[in-house]
Amino acid sequence: ERRTVVVIGAGPAGLTVGNILRAAAVDCVVLETESREFVETRPRAGVIEEWAVRGLEQRGLADALLAGAQVHSACEFRFDSERFRFDYAALTGRHHYIYPQPLLVTDLVREYADVRGGDIRFGVRDVRLHDVDSDRPTVSYTDPATGRRHVLHCAFVAGCDGARGVSRDTVPDARTRMSRQDYGVGWLALLAQAPPSSDCVLFGVHPDGFAGHMARGPEVTRYYLQCPPGDDPQNWPHDRIWAELHERLGAEGAPPLNEGPLVEKRVLDMHNYVVEPMVFGRLFLAGDAGHLTAPIAAKGMNLALHDAFLLGDALVAHVTEDDDSGLDGYSHASLRRVWDYQEFSGFLSDIYHGTASGDPFLAGTSLARLRRLFTSTAAATAFAEQYLGAAAAF
Ligand code: FAD
Repeated sequence: ERRTVVVIGAGPAGLTVGNILRAAAVDCVVLETESREFVETRPRAGVIEEWAVRGLEQRGLADALLAGAQVHSACEFRFDSERFRFDYAALTGRHHYIYPQPLLVTDLVREYADVRGGDIRFGVRDVRLHDVDSDRPTVSYTDPATGRRHVLHCAFVAGCDGARGVSRDTVPDARTRMSRQDYGVGWLALLAQAPPSSDCVLFGVHPDGFAGHMARGPEVTRYYLQCPPGDDPQNWPHDRIWAELHERLGAEGAPPLNEGPLVEKRVLDMHNYVVEPMVFGRLFLAGDAGHLTAPIAAKGMNLALHDAFLLGDALVAHVTEDDDSGLDGYSHASLRRVWDYQEFSGFLSDIYHGTASGDPFLAGTSLARLRRLFTSTAAATAFAEQYLGAAAAF
């Protein structure tokens, strides 16, 4: 079987690449190890930056998002028992869109498979990449229905299989560099079946550790609690979680948090990596397969979409116009935004975790950074631009 492009992984990156290829009638297939139902319900991100929404819109992929997303114009920091509202839209004229990742993935699967007639194979097993450094790569997998190995011949492989995929491992160590950073903290990621307790995102910067509140829908709220890395979620019974959330997000005049059953509770270790370059022969990595950003700054899905726009458009230009400039510049263009977002994530990590670091000097400088956002318009504007992500290409 022959395809021009094999896309590995049906997350935001792979599905967006697939949709761009289908719109230009480029022959492709998407391979995914999980079921359709699983990828359409996996809870993760929720914040989409305005430039990314515009990018989806330009490619005909934002109809449901624009009809259903919440548009946010501010966030609120809580520290020293006080509330500090940060109105980023007033400073920049730009907004954040809140749209849960499972809804975006559902939209993208529907558009790719049901509207654009794309080939997508769920539940495949043991995906392997071969000869990606030649001009005749192949991808093989086990068909779940027959148990037989299947081989796809192609011109390009888009490795969009996330942080735990196989694409990245195909690249020999001598041909790539993987830079890693570990913030040394964990976050307990929670999903509560409870209405949001504020009209905006809340960040609690507290001596006991960071806490976050993010709306996901009218009846669902994501919360985060800083915890030791590798902590066992069993150490966090229902009552302890709500007591810590009330304490760390508490501030004078703040309405009480709406409690509810916790439907997700898992510990994420806050670490990052970047693979350079993101290209090996005919294999192009995109999204978390190429770079992971701890969810501190809510950037991962946005970077995955940025890669997908670049890579999808570049593959289309190669196939339909014989123009290789997009593919040649892909890794460089992706990594410019990746490194910019990694730097901001590190800056935020210092602010969020400094007060609970046990180091009074770091606690002092972290709070100074935070206060500066509310005393200097220049500092606030710079922060807002990074918080919302650069609107233009770098
Ligand atoms: P994924 O979404 O991981 O998709 C990869 C796909 O490949 C998966 O479907 C996987 O099943 C499949 N796959 C894996 N291995 C194989 C294989 N061998 N063969 C075939 N398929 C395979 N980002 C934001 O921008 N904003 C946020 O608010 C935010 N919050 C987050 C909160 C949490 C709790 C977490 C965990 C992450 C958050 N992120 C956020 C990050 C965001 O979810 C990821 O960056 C995003 O999913 C990356 O998209 P992707 O398409 O690169 O990878």
